[in-house]
Amino acid sequence: MAKKIASLGTSLNRVDISVLGATKDPFEKITRKKGSFEKVINSIRLLKDEGVDVQIKSTLMKPNKDEFLMIKKLSERFDTMFRYSPTINPRINGDKSPLKYQVAPVQVYELRKKLNSSRKLINEEELEGRSSENLGRKNLFRCGAGQSEVTISPYGEMNLCLEIHYPRYNILKGSFEEGWKILKEYVQNFRPPKGYFCKDCVLAQFCHWCPARGLLTSGALTRCSQQDRAQALFEARHSPLWKKMAPAWERQKRRFK
Ligand code: SF4
Repeated sequence: MAKKIASLGTSLNRVDISVLGATKDPFEKITRKKGSFEKVINSIRLLKDEGVDVQIKSTLMKPNKDEFLMIKKLSERFDTMFRYSPTINPRINGDKSPLKYQVAPVQVYELRKKLNSSRKLINEEELEGRSSENLGRKNLFRCGAGQSEVTISPYGEMNLCLEIHYPRYNILKGSFEEGWKILKEYVQNFRPPKGYFCKDCVLAQFCHWCPARGLLTSGALTRCSQQDRAQALFEARHSPLWKKMAPAWERQKRRFK
């Protein structure tokens, strides 16, 4: 299989592989599949041996928080890219039970500092020059959804991302070009409604929220989630910019009640 994937050459950018633990036990506790650790590690090795670009992706959660740095080390050992998410989403059917695995804001903050040891969590110099009223998030999508990225499900359903199941364009009945046009225009023409707080939220630069999380946690693409707000507030309070931001936050926080 690794040889087959490698034979796709430049038409394949990269293979992303989820690695949720650095050692067998925590890994297989999470996947609930015996032998899965060895298979995943083997797949990475085989793909790398064939010269395929691999990215290890991981999600921080209570069962793997103690070995999360080791997952990054694993990516260094295999010379792959590494990307992680510090937040857990509800299931796409709205079931919030996975949130019980979410790690506390202080632990996320400490770990992010260690994982990003060579660079700051945010560009404080750049923010220093802005007024506190100008720290908000003007564009709804910060990622490449509808700009450089889309998701296609195994059933041919083309969507903005894995979590946003809209517009469910069926490329098996249409074409990639048409689906791409629809998604691109959706993002370009999206005008947030009146209650979109992020646009002038003083915490926006510290916040990991994205529209998909708004949708999954509270049913609307533009709605703030309590969990992301708590994390953003924690990080903002530990930033040298907090002195400047605090009065604006005091004014702003009332609207979340
Ligand atoms: S705290 Fe809420 S309103 Fe502020 S940027 Fe994050 S999601 Fe938006």
